[in-house]
Amino acid sequence: MSGPNKSYDPVQVSMLEAAALEAAVTEALTAFAAADSLESLKAARLAHQGDTSALSLANREIGALPPTAKAEAGKRVGLARARVARALAARQNQLEVERDARLLVEEAVDVTAPVARRRLGARHPLELISERVGDIFVAMGWEIAEGPEVESEWFNFDALNLGVDHPARQMQDTFFVDPPDAGLVLRTHTSPVQVRSLLERDLPLYIVCPGKVFRTDELDATHSAVFHQVEGLAVAEGLTMAHLRGTLDHFVEALFGQNLETRLRPSYFPFTEPSAELDFRCFICRGTDDHCRTCGGTGWIEWGGCGMVNRNVFQACGIDPDRYTGFAFGMGIERALMLRHGVKDMREMVEGDVRFSTQFGMEI
Ligand SMILES: [Zn+2]
Repeated sequence: MSGPNKSYDPVQVSMLEAAALEAAVTEALTAFAAADSLESLKAARLAHQGDTSALSLANREIGALPPTAKAEAGKRVGLARARVARALAARQNQLEVERDARLLVEEAVDVTAPVARRRLGARHPLELISERVGDIFVAMGWEIAEGPEVESEWFNFDALNLGVDHPARQMQDTFFVDPPDAGLVLRTHTSPVQVRSLLERDLPLYIVCPGKVFRTDELDATHSAVFHQVEGLAVAEGLTMAHLRGTLDHFVEALFGQNLETRLRPSYFPFTEPSAELDFRCFICRGTDDHCRTCGGTGWIEWGGCGMVNRNVFQACGIDPDRYTGFAFGMGIERALMLRHGVKDMREMVEGDVRFSTQFGMEI
């Protein structure tokens, strides 16, 4: 609080002159009117209403007046400050209304505008065809069996009658897992699942095992280091090659079409005896086109190996080979997909391009 000024100095109270007050008010009103944004209005408010403004100065000078002059000066300054405050509030309100109207336009969301649609992914056709194969066998009462992809050498080779000198065990075919003496490999076929099933499940046994297998092949149009097989195994009393043939006939027709003749050609696999290669009639030309690209003009499509389970495999699994017999077969899933859907290049299946997968839809 400033105390009464005993030695009244007219210079100090110059801002209390009516003309000076009027000029300060006019200046403030002009500045407020000129402010075209809330930011510039704030600057104008600080300049004309703040502590260092002419009107604040005038207000403080009242304290310096002789008591007789204070009332009138106070009224004059108060009126001036009220005019300025009213003008400021009006302009503030006006600018806020303008800003709100502008924001409504600028920040409006157009709910009818098209959005950037994200493309849907796709299930891989190898997965789809594996499921279809599984369904074919489940419908006949078979079970799906699975096993580890990192497999012990015993399951992958020894139990399947592949002796230590068998060429399939060599380094050029098989991925061995470090350390080398751990006896672990990436399974080279799905057959170890058969052995595991024989050890773990009760007889009779009807299982099908679709799965990923690994060989040290370079990736090209017909080879991949990772590919898929489906193996089937049936073990019961009294099973013969006729049961094998009937099962394969149904499998071929379910996957490639009705009335497709099959044939078995003698072959050799360590884990089956006798063994055979399975061919079926070309489902494109049915043997009537010498230039058919699907079968190469032979009329037959080679599709997989099969045979009656070797006695040695049964013995390795503790099953009496004089009481039980069984049959087994194995096919490449990639080959099935290539044949059935005309995929020409193995690389298309491993590159992971969704444009390849979407062609097949969600069911094949
Ligand atoms: Zn053909």
